[in-house]
Amino acid sequence: MAAGEIAHAERAHALLSASGAHRWLHCPPSARLESTLPDSESEAAKRGTLAHEIGELKLQKAFFGLQARKYNAELKKKQKHELYEAVIEEHTNAYLDYIQGLVHAFPTPPHIAVERKLDLTDYIPEGFGTSDCTIIGAGRLHIVDYKNGSGVPVPAEDNPQMMLYALGAYKAFASWFPITEVHISIVQPKVWDTPSEWSLSVADLLAWGDSIKPIAKQAFNGEGEYAPGSHCGFCRAKEKCRARVESLLSLESFAPKKPPLISWEEVADALRRGEGIVKWYNSIKALALAEVIKGTELLGWKAVEGRGSRSYVDLDTAFAHLKANGIDESVLYKREPLTPPQLEETLTKKVYRELLEETGHVIKSPGAPTLAPADDKRPAFSNQVKPEDVFNTPPEQS
Ligand code: SF4
Repeated sequence: MAAGEIAHAERAHALLSASGAHRWLHCPPSARLESTLPDSESEAAKRGTLAHEIGELKLQKAFFGLQARKYNAELKKKQKHELYEAVIEEHTNAYLDYIQGLVHAFPTPPHIAVERKLDLTDYIPEGFGTSDCTIIGAGRLHIVDYKNGSGVPVPAEDNPQMMLYALGAYKAFASWFPITEVHISIVQPKVWDTPSEWSLSVADLLAWGDSIKPIAKQAFNGEGEYAPGSHCGFCRAKEKCRARVESLLSLESFAPKKPPLISWEEVADALRRGEGIVKWYNSIKALALAEVIKGTELLGWKAVEGRGSRSYVDLDTAFAHLKANGIDESVLYKREPLTPPQLEETLTKKVYRELLEETGHVIKSPGAPTLAPADDKRPAFSNQVKPEDVFNTPPEQS
């Protein structure tokens, strides 16, 4: 296999992190504002780190000769982690398979770097980032990133985090390997069956890098305008940011003289704003509760005890007691078949497909219509009858 290198991830964060680039490029002062707020790692983020570590282990074994005994011992340790879930194996195997496919497509063994720390200071003051997997050969630079989340799909196209990694990798490797094309891939198994891919030329990548330099400088200095938008979702200031709250709660009318009923144009706008308001409201409510519990006065609000729950002191003893008192065992347990999505998670996608879908044991029924933003990837649903459905012929061309 190709010569390679491993730099164990020291996933520290720069003020202007590559992973936060989408946010600070849109809202430059957000970086300094965030740095004044506490940073707490969510459970999903911790599970993502664990999945990354397992993925890295598999790459080390596949490409850098990590011995089976050491690999198994390390993997066992990770599998004992409280956040470990069996599906991580399937997802990190998909990540490994994808990288193996890329590597084997090279005419000669490429250079591979895993969890490589990259210097981004040519573009971002004090900037650095860690690329999950970098592959270079035959004039091509591949940046492959693993995403463990399922909530927000992350496409490769125009992805500033990946483009920054590509700039860092180009700087690190271009004097050793000729590079003309850049290929970006995001493996997000909980969202996509096949990775999201995008390519650009080195000239376009470098031009983009030059274009962001002034914004990065502005962001580093805490200058520029606060600009609320979809990028606020991952900002640590998202609950209390004045610009965001004002933009969420402000109302505008499209009509110069307001009619008693709002227009459909205004309905569309209210729906869009409403979604943001609901998310923000839930989030700031949780933040405010934590503050009140700590003792902060919040005028007109207090913390109260929520609805309690009941649980057995000891399940086995309690059930033995019930049975001893004549309660039949069939009353005590509920036996329910797992649903197809639950079985898919338990059996892994591959086994589920082979045993159930491909053998015709599962039917897929369309879901009920739901309202979604116009940029949603699903095709638009309509119950309008089309001429070709009625007459079974294509509509006349004019
Ligand atoms: S919440 Fe949004 S507008 Fe406010 S600082 Fe963060 S990214 Fe900028």
